[in-house]
Amino acid sequence: MESERQSPTDAETDAGEETTPDLKDLGFAPSNGWNAVYVDGEWRAQGDRAGLDVVDPTTRVAVGTIPAGTDEDVDAAYAAAESAQREWADRTPEERASVVAAARELVGKYHEEFAHLFAVECGGARLKADIELDLTTGTMAVAEELADAADPTDTEERESAVEGKRNLVFREPAGVVGIISPWNFPLYLSMRAVAPAIALGNAVVLKPSTHTAIVGGLALASLFEEAGLPDGVLNVVTGEGSAIGETIAGHPAASVVSFTGSTEVGRKVGGAAAEQLSTPALELGGNNAHIVTAEADLDRAVDGGVFGSFTHQGQECISINRHLVHESVYDEYVERLAERASELPVGDPRDEAVLVGPVQNASQFETIRDLVEQSVEQGANIESGGEFDDWFVEPTVLSGVENDMPVAAEEHFGPVAPVISFSDIDEAVALANDTEYGLSGSVHCEDAERAIDIARRLDTGMVHVNDQPLNDDPNVAFGGVNASGIGRYNAEWIVEELTETRWISVQEEAREYPF
Ligand code: NAD
Repeated sequence: MESERQSPTDAETDAGEETTPDLKDLGFAPSNGWNAVYVDGEWRAQGDRAGLDVVDPTTRVAVGTIPAGTDEDVDAAYAAAESAQREWADRTPEERASVVAAARELVGKYHEEFAHLFAVECGGARLKADIELDLTTGTMAVAEELADAADPTDTEERESAVEGKRNLVFREPAGVVGIISPWNFPLYLSMRAVAPAIALGNAVVLKPSTHTAIVGGLALASLFEEAGLPDGVLNVVTGEGSAIGETIAGHPAASVVSFTGSTEVGRKVGGAAAEQLSTPALELGGNNAHIVTAEADLDRAVDGGVFGSFTHQGQECISINRHLVHESVYDEYVERLAERASELPVGDPRDEAVLVGPVQNASQFETIRDLVEQSVEQGANIESGGEFDDWFVEPTVLSGVENDMPVAAEEHFGPVAPVISFSDIDEAVALANDTEYGLSGSVHCEDAERAIDIARRLDTGMVHVNDQPLNDDPNVAFGGVNASGIGRYNAEWIVEELTETRWISVQEEAREYPF
């Protein structure tokens, strides 16, 4: 069964200028275009820096250039952030929240243009763009409410063990926050750190992924500039992680280093931050299991399985990486999942009917193909999909998969659904936990209490009962255990990461010392 799709060659011809749009024309583009870093409120043009292509994944054609920022740019960005931070922290929480609110309203105003940018720069389908824009405005709205959480005048009194002592405990912003973000949900994953950092009175140096430097970085600078953020509070330096990433992560001016990306790079970033005694907040990879028990409502399990595996081509840290299905329903589940996968519209994400676009880059495409091919060589069967064409991967369902086959053992990050059979819950739990990761997961069982018991046994930060792992809620702690990261995002949990708690005590009566 093959999904119909518009080939990239057709897309180039049919879509004409749409395929290689001038990104300078977006309503929120800076007047001289995107080929600049943003430091201390200035768009500093590429100049004699090297340039990096902005590539449209559907056509694999370069549609723009961004500067390969240098260590000097990073130093300048941190210097600007350090000098702007104190004055920004001294603004009232209401003033800080109102700037974030103004930026949030601009995300709404430019919704359609953002959707277009997502298609061109990320290969993201319209549905995914809408989901990401909703998450972005959601995290900004919560950040606005957090703005007074780091008000040094808002002190809490704590009882003292010493007679006559008054304890004052309060929070203040951590200072300067270095943020490194990935390409898969670039606007949201940058914003979930940038918005609370700014609302709480920090200043920021942001390095977006090179693959999505506009929507994950420069666009945020542009939004906050239009929203009236003072110069230097948000600085964006584009460039290769291998060239400037370590300077961002290991910079002495950073109080916190927030990183979202792969576990491999996260280990390096965490090490560089720890060397400076900066707080590392690390959101890393996942290998999420979707467990379908014998008592599952199969309609709901399949619905969740399709959404959790194929949304944004499976390119989320919280996508389903493995389907673990009880042997009694295995054949039916595989058949239904394969049928649904084969019906998904694949093609150019500028077509609003398309649900599955290209994967984002060449290395991503090659990794997914290699993992599938190696697993098929080891005995997995292709039940649907399995076609690899330029950067398009047909939604692929694999049966007969074992937990140690490459496509199951590694984070494949593609529109691929490996289905593994289990015979009892102990085996399902053991299979799910047999990974270094511990990010998200899901359990299907009509008895929700029984499902919760299974969920508690999964060694992950998050589990969703009778749903699928792809959930993020701005009011709830988001994060993983083990090799999936350190720390939590959203609401009061991100406040912990981005502030320092301080203690001032006042000895109000003369104290009796022992000598
Ligand atoms: P990546 O680790 O390759 O890159 C992430 C960022 O790190 C990019 O900005 C990149 O330029 C930068 N970078 C690369 N090398 C660096 C270095 N040596 N020092 C400092 N920075 C460096 O990840 P990716 O391919 O962009 O994203 C996919 C990965 O991110 C997957 O593993 C996915 O699971 C993970 N992810 C996790 C979450 C989460 O919330 N846990 C969310 C999204 C993605």
